[in-house]
Amino acid sequence: MKKILITRKLLRECEDKAAKIFEASFNSNDELYSQSKVIEMSKGYDGILTSLTDKMDAETINKLPDTIKILSNFAVGFGNIDLEAAKKRGIAVTNTPDVLTDATAEIGILLILGACRRAHEGILDAKESNWKWSADYLIGKQLTGSRLGILGMGRIGQKIAKIAKSLGMIIHYHNRSKLSNEKEDGAIYHDNLKDLLSVSDVLSVCCPASKETIDMINKDTIEYLPKGAVVTNVARGDIIDDEALIDALDRRKVYAVGLDVYKNEPNLNPGYLKHKSAFILPHLGSATKETRTAMANLAIDNIDEFFKTGNCTNKVN
Ligand code: NAP
Repeated sequence: MKKILITRKLLRECEDKAAKIFEASFNSNDELYSQSKVIEMSKGYDGILTSLTDKMDAETINKLPDTIKILSNFAVGFGNIDLEAAKKRGIAVTNTPDVLTDATAEIGILLILGACRRAHEGILDAKESNWKWSADYLIGKQLTGSRLGILGMGRIGQKIAKIAKSLGMIIHYHNRSKLSNEKEDGAIYHDNLKDLLSVSDVLSVCCPASKETIDMINKDTIEYLPKGAVVTNVARGDIIDDEALIDALDRRKVYAVGLDVYKNEPNLNPGYLKHKSAFILPHLGSATKETRTAMANLAIDNIDEFFKTGNCTNKVN
């Protein structure tokens, strides 16, 4: 049996599955292991089932024992792992695509609705009994007929587009490459970020965090948005320059934000907390029982496939 270090607690049935296939080390207290602890604990192990909270940068990867052959990330994103460093050491990196698309798109839509319809303010008022119905109370932005700009029209972006279309939104997107007509499904392609932002009444950030996308939404690019745009991010916090976005909220260039992910999680920039127009969630994208189970099972299957065949369908490096 292969020896696998599992860095975070999984749902019970998934840990039972892993125990049947591997000699696995579990983290029953769900402690956040430091990088040095992961290096230390992985001695004598064949692979690690990592999560997005494990920062597997080049320095950490270079110190892993030679026995480690796979990092199976419990996420579709892999911005926490230096793919090149892993490749240089002959370590495969895998992810969990598809199984979390629907759950994450649901949160993507919740962010859009929550930000546009002033849900945070509404909840605060309702809890404090500080409201009465009136014709002009908490007037928000209606989605029908407004333009949704999707930055990163991949699996999650396309699912958000489908739901948003059913709500009457007009879909625009930017990827580095244009999709087939079938995948576009009527959405309007922009080959550069500036053009996308200039038509985005609502922006939905759905691209991965990478060297290219870090701080893509910044002081300069925010200015391309129409005045009073709504900015939502269901992808990764690294893509947004928080200071610039908070400043745009302060000056009402941006009407509201809907955020699920942050730089330096869980310590989000406190500037968001002072804005009632910030609808913020604690990284809930894939958090349903069905999806977390499917993700963990896929992360386990990826390791199994890799050791059985020498390769893995979900290898990303
Ligand atoms: P995906 O299918 O790979 O889609 C990513 C899209 O981003 C692709 O269409 C890609 O198109 C585009 N893209 C990549 N780099 C770009 C760039 N530099 N400029 C513009 N577009 C770029 O990934 P997915 O499954 O939809 O997941 C997307 C991201 O969501 C993940 O990477 C993850 O970080 C995040 N996520 C968050 C949660 C959560 O809990 N909130 C859950 C799941 C996933 P091109 O390659 O043509 O550019």
